[in-house]
Amino acid sequence: MTARRPFIVGVDGPAGAGKSTTSRRLAARLGFAMVDTGAIYRAVALAASRGGIAFDDDARLGALLPEVRIRFEPAPPGAEAAGQRVFIGDEDVSQAIRTPPMSLGASAVSARPVVRAGLLDLQRRLATAPGNRGAVLEGRDIGTVVFPDADAKFFLIAPDEVRARRRFLELQAKGDPQPFEAVLADQRKRDRDDSSRDVAPLRAADDAVTVDTGGVSLDEVVERLAREVLARVAARG
Ligand code: C5P
Repeated sequence: MTARRPFIVGVDGPAGAGKSTTSRRLAARLGFAMVDTGAIYRAVALAASRGGIAFDDDARLGALLPEVRIRFEPAPPGAEAAGQRVFIGDEDVSQAIRTPPMSLGASAVSARPVVRAGLLDLQRRLATAPGNRGAVLEGRDIGTVVFPDADAKFFLIAPDEVRARRRFLELQAKGDPQPFEAVLADQRKRDRDDSSRDVAPLRAADDAVTVDTGGVSLDEVVERLAREVLARVAARG
């Protein structure tokens, strides 16, 4: 008998919709692995920028991908990077990938087909690693491209200003304050770029459950998703 694939949960949506916190808490609650696919694109952007590689230089990005060893480690309990640390080789880049330039860099490299294709296998391997009962993947195209046959798909949304306000407060808390208008403008650019690109544009899968996280507490969102996932786990038997 072949082993059954882990239960796959895709959480997609635009920046600031609450995907990270929701996914992390959902994964913890279910005892599932968590795969932050945005962190993977961010790590590629960081490696490219350090290597002096332009974000649209397909040939050099293609050559870079096999060299960048991206991996995750659980963060120590109570650590600021709550949940996971991101490494390139032996270097902890968890903070370095979260700057505004790397947000835009990730958006730029993620529009290159060579990068998307080159990262598919890594995302699937992390989710289906031996020992995973299930995995929550957070991203933009989990339900449409990475796992079109995911067992549960969610698409989180929230009004523009609500999402930008969350990012604004997050950057402030990290000691990297940015003017609200700049955060909103960056976010609108990313939304536009992510939604209009040719490959794997940001959109809800036809069978995704759309959840508006504006004006709802995080606890309620996690609760709603957990209920849905647990019902499907039970149905799968
Ligand atoms: O989720 P996060 O803000 O960390 O993602 C950074 C950028 O990486 C996004 O704006 C998007 O352009 C890109 N991305 C993507 N596909 C994913 C995850 C992230 O294109 N699955």
